[in-house]
Amino acid sequence: MKLTWEVIELKLKDTFRISRGELDSKTIVVARIGEGIGEASPSSFYGESWETVLKYLAKVKDSIREDTSQLEEVLERLDENQGFNQAAKAAIDIALHDLQGKRLGLPVYKLLGLSGELKVPISHTLGIDSLDKMQEKAKRASDFKILKVKLGVPSDLEMVRAVRQVTDQIIRVDANAGWGREEAIQKINQLEDLGVELVEQPLKPEDKEGLKELRKNTYLPIILDEPICTSEDIPQWIGLCEGINIKLMKSGGIREGLKMIRLAKSLGMKIMLGCMIESSLGITAAAQLASEADYLDLDSHLLIENDPFVGVALKNGSLVLNESPGLGVSVRP
Ligand code: MG
Repeated sequence: MKLTWEVIELKLKDTFRISRGELDSKTIVVARIGEGIGEASPSSFYGESWETVLKYLAKVKDSIREDTSQLEEVLERLDENQGFNQAAKAAIDIALHDLQGKRLGLPVYKLLGLSGELKVPISHTLGIDSLDKMQEKAKRASDFKILKVKLGVPSDLEMVRAVRQVTDQIIRVDANAGWGREEAIQKINQLEDLGVELVEQPLKPEDKEGLKELRKNTYLPIILDEPICTSEDIPQWIGLCEGINIKLMKSGGIREGLKMIRLAKSLGMKIMLGCMIESSLGITAAAQLASEADYLDLDSHLLIENDPFVGVALKNGSLVLNESPGLGVSVRP
């Protein structure tokens, strides 16, 4: 079976700013295996770029053989290729799941034995901005039940206060590792007073001691994101957080994503299913697992001006999967 790929530049509707930088566009790689289609949205934080994705795909191209139906074995073989290439692996994993579903005439979530019923509403992300702009963006997002506000800058509390002034929506915050310990304790306690529901990645990814301090001095639930990519990364954080943010672009795809969900749940952790800046293709792939999550942060396709795909729909702030075989994603006409 032939593996082919295409590089696509996604343009964002607004400049997207988080604590460590900003983006106006994101270059993704779309992989195709027969009728199957998958997306890699590489993250520079993990040393990936569209160029490293292409390198990886070229390297594994010949290991995708005629019979790809034994997903477990095919994906394990890919994993034997050294290096951290999670987004590239995800593109292949997603394409193979799509292909398998199309072959068997089943949506991917059914192939996985999941319900596909997405009861948990998605959050809508507001990147860091001026207070006026934050309020304007919050007002524009009135269809959503939950806002996720990106923090990690000196104006954090002002931003949340500004958003709170114009909306009653649930507010979650994500500091993207932007705080020191003292700053985190102070800000989290004030955020609690502002009615914030949870805090994602307050401290540096490796700061376990800091998390222990936060647990003694703050009450809001903490969700970890940056230090957790695959299931191997999970056990070391037991007792240090309430939950973890699982993303297909970190896990290397649907298969490992589901394994992470099961492991984390068995350890009593809450599941957030999140995303990088991804098109409807990547988001729809993640949505196949969304019935298993406690929190859904799958909205990046809505931030894109030129989404090349049509997939999962949005109704009253929740995602709705379609019944088409495979992912149910098509190229936007
Ligand atoms: Mg995050």
